[in-house]
Amino acid sequence: MWAMSGSTYDAVVVGAGPNGLAAAVELARRGRSVAVLEAEDRIGGGTRSDEITLPGFVHDLGSAIHPLGYASPFFSTLPLEEHGLEWIHPPAPLAHPFDDGTAATLERSTEMTAATLGSDAGAYRNLMTPWPTTPGGYRPRSPDRRAFPVTRSPWRPPGCARWVRPGARGGCLRGERARGLFAGNAAHSFLPMEKRPSALFGIVLGTLGHAFGWPLPKGGSQSIADALASYLLSLGGEIFTGVRVRSVDEVPRTRTVLFDVTPRQLLDIAGVHFTERYRDALKRYRYGPGVFKVDLALDGPIPWSAEECLRAGTVHLGGTLEDISAGEAAVSHGEHPERPFVLLAQQSLFDDTRAPEGKHTAWAYCHVPNGSTFDMTQRIEAQIERFAPGFGNRVLARNAWGPADLEGWNANLVGGDINGGYMDVRQLFGRPALRANPYSTPANGLYICSSSTPPGGAVHGLCGFMAARSALRYLKT
Ligand SMILES: Cc1cc2nc3c(=O)[nH]c(=O)nc-3n(C[C@H](O)[C@H](O)[C@H](O)COP(=O)(O)OP(=O)(O)OC[C@H]3O[C@@H](n4cnc5c(N)ncnc54)[C@H](O)[C@@H]3O)c2cc1C
Repeated sequence: MWAMSGSTYDAVVVGAGPNGLAAAVELARRGRSVAVLEAEDRIGGGTRSDEITLPGFVHDLGSAIHPLGYASPFFSTLPLEEHGLEWIHPPAPLAHPFDDGTAATLERSTEMTAATLGSDAGAYRNLMTPWPTTPGGYRPRSPDRRAFPVTRSPWRPPGCARWVRPGARGGCLRGERARGLFAGNAAHSFLPMEKRPSALFGIVLGTLGHAFGWPLPKGGSQSIADALASYLLSLGGEIFTGVRVRSVDEVPRTRTVLFDVTPRQLLDIAGVHFTERYRDALKRYRYGPGVFKVDLALDGPIPWSAEECLRAGTVHLGGTLEDISAGEAAVSHGEHPERPFVLLAQQSLFDDTRAPEGKHTAWAYCHVPNGSTFDMTQRIEAQIERFAPGFGNRVLARNAWGPADLEGWNANLVGGDINGGYMDVRQLFGRPALRANPYSTPANGLYICSSSTPPGGAVHGLCGFMAARSALRYLKT
């Protein structure tokens, strides 16, 4: 619905993903008038849920598991629970099964995790020692501090700094179990295991698991977006859906515009207002690998060989570090691995709103080259079958989405890239371009607030929060 012409706002946000909504909330709670324009019929961006297989089976179409959302120093300052958000903590954040029918697990306690890692128990404790593994270790003083874990002794490099510097292939862990568990977390970076900062992702996701868990929202990820939107409306903000902004000149009268889009779209929408240098920087911006995703409606729980997997919200399917590394290297060379690393979530085991009684859902994806058109459904399901023989007999229905389907569903997923851009060292910290304030653009009043800004992909709202803070400073002038 589009009925805003003539209105004057302090800020207009283009895109109602978690970062766009976060930006709007921050502006509104500082007393600014704000409207959000969303291209799709539903808000949420990468945080939407729907019944896409069979009636009664609620699938997370984008994000599923939210360690960063739960730990977010911005979200934690908002009354989202009062607006319907309820977090569910599976007993174990993560399970990582092996071909021998056993599994390593990331547990809330470092000790319990170490106990699943055999001969590497001591090395794992050493690896975690410099990092905060309890919520108290974080103590954010303000939402723009400690967005991510920092070592407790910044002057003392972590005991296993080698994991962080050369990427996730080296390091102090020697055994198959610990190396496999760590490699699965590092592979969330979408980087080859040799490349920095893949190991940092392994450390961050491990420490977040210990400190905060890897929770999922009751009813589906949509409830994160719905809670943000509900709070925004209570503050007087407005949201308009079905409005695709193609040019900045279409935006209603406003002093600032914050774009929850990636650099390629930003160039199309507002490029004429930028300097040539900034335009060139945006053109050079690199997107990462894409994903191929399968959502499954199941007749029962997944019959894992390793029963521990039933305690975990997330299961990483890839086996050893060598296997995972080979799969991720293949993707980086433009190939489709025969045995891809698969990230799987089994929300309905812990949330009975997701499926009819006795039935279940599963959410699974693997990495593929950006823009790939190859159908990975069979290879993803073969990886599940490898660790859960008989799984195939439980499938009632499936929905498979490749990069083009994902981009058709959400224009920010360029070539299937779910992180808003490649996240190597340069682009993790210097996104979308190297600027003192990466949220600002050379055009006065125009900002970018999507995951194509620091700290990058995932549902945490920090990109939106930081961009809103920049816009607020401008609005004071
Ligand atoms: C398959 C998948 C799995 C994921 N898994 C996880 C996970 O488990 N945990 C996690 O934390 N994160 C996960 N993510 C990543 C997470 O969803 C994103 O990092 C996050 O949604 C980025 O938020 P954003 O607001 O920057 O952009 P988006 O969520 O992409 O939102 C952008 C919004 O802008 C709108 N838009 C775009 N162009 C226009 C325009 N021209 N006019 C108007 N509106 C426009 C889009 O429609 C969209 O609603 C996953 C993503 C996907 C796709």
